Amino acid sequence: MSARDVAELVVQVGRIAHGSGYTDGLTPAQWSALRYLSRANRFSRTVSAFAEFNATTRGTASQTVKGLVARGYLSRTRSRHDGRSSSLEVTDNARTMLARDPWEAIVRAASALPAGARGQLATGLQRLLGHLVQGRSRRPFGVCTSCAHLEAEPCVGEGEPHFECTYFDELLEETELAQICANFEPGKNSAMKCAFSGQA
Ligand code: SF4
Repeated sequence: MSARDVAELVVQVGRIAHGSGYTDGLTPAQWSALRYLSRANRFSRTVSAFAEFNATTRGTASQTVKGLVARGYLSRTRSRHDGRSSSLEVTDNARTMLARDPWEAIVRAASALPAGARGQLATGLQRLLGHLVQGRSRRPFGVCTSCAHLEAEPCVGEGEPHFECTYFDELLEETELAQICANFEPGKNSAMKCAFSGQA
């Protein structure tokens, strides 16, 4: 298969995903904001982080968010990490909407693939995305479990492991490790292995 064929397939999947976004009175951008904000960590639930994630301008992202706040799908609180910006939280109404997210059809299609094929596809798409992000000087988003800033204690010895983000200098709950972060730094991370195997 040629590189152009691969590009065409990626675009076709994107078209289907985009086209399915006009449901329940929301736009694809609003669905994207709800999805992002329901998965983003506490440092990344801001308009600017969403703008960067969605490859749009801050002004456009701000309008998207404003519409969702007005409809009761998002609430704003003062950000603990940056006093000048607001932190956005998805409301219970939004979570009810997300339970019937039109993207679930794509999730089901992905689950129908054998695990090996799914892994290969994910690796290939991640690399493709890495090239695209690099070319546009955009930061990649990712999760703590593969971030260079994650540290775990104790590496050896007794006791429950605890996790720390050395970028924000904050302790992290285990439930936060799989949330999307705007400050993700791809790199060597031995914290997970260290925490759960007792090896330094
Ligand atoms: S460890 Fe990395 S991904 Fe996790 S909160 Fe810190 S900067 Fe973000």
